[in-house]
Amino acid sequence: MGLSARQLPVRLALYPDELLSSWIIRHAAFYAVPPLAMLQHCLPEIQSLRTADLDITESRVARIARMFSADPATVLRMTFSNITQSSRRLIASEPRQLCCSCSPITNELHPVLRSRFLGWRITCPLCGNLLQNADGGPRRSPFSRYHNSALMGEQLLDDEAERGMQNWMPPSEIARLLLMRRVPRPLPDRYEPSNYRVLGVIIPDLDDVLRVQNSKLPSRASTFLPLHLRPALLAGVAIVQRSGPEMLHMLRSHMMGENKARFGSAIDEIVDCARQSRTSSQLHLI
Ligand SMILES: [Zn+2]
Repeated sequence: MGLSARQLPVRLALYPDELLSSWIIRHAAFYAVPPLAMLQHCLPEIQSLRTADLDITESRVARIARMFSADPATVLRMTFSNITQSSRRLIASEPRQLCCSCSPITNELHPVLRSRFLGWRITCPLCGNLLQNADGGPRRSPFSRYHNSALMGEQLLDDEAERGMQNWMPPSEIARLLLMRRVPRPLPDRYEPSNYRVLGVIIPDLDDVLRVQNSKLPSRASTFLPLHLRPALLAGVAIVQRSGPEMLHMLRSHMMGENKARFGSAIDEIVDCARQSRTSSQLHLI
């Protein structure tokens, strides 16, 4: 079937929370063209579907919306363009998790939901059920007793990522600091530095889980945790956010050397930055 017309003659129904690239891929299958050709039909300058998901401008959204005869606001909500810069490192490059109740089962190509990429979520934004590992990883989290705090942490990170809301410190920055290495006391016999993170001070089960289950945490640069370990980090974020900067200073005392200095300057910088942005928004209101 040719694609000469700008506006598509047939539009496939959207699934709730479907990602834009997924919708484009389903249309491409329907019209029997490569997915990128489908996208470039209205945006010839875009080189990947991932770019359309992550960084799409309003004018491009308008062009896509015109091709699909859809509402631009609806198209925009199918992307990650609204996600705050500080939370973007928590967007996976491929689907990592799924909600067994909401993942559509169809005879055609399966739609891919936006929530499958979000590294701060443990529950489905549509039905509230716990998300499951998509790659056959552990089904149960060893941190289920922190569930309520983890839900609060999920909400804080979601408010920051999706709606730009912040408190005295961006929750994604707290997550980053909590994953820095610390030095346990007394030093265990077989000391593996990457298994001891600041988070283990407030969620003591973490040290044991990492040691016994041989679970690996990502390197310092990434805060995207496997789904079964994520509740620990979310609960930690909620606890620190509630306790205030004093808790970060207490946590700093569990670190040594260069890490300690870096942690200290990160706290000062972030708290300062948050204070300045609060002051400027207050001045704006006067
Ligand atoms: Zn669901």
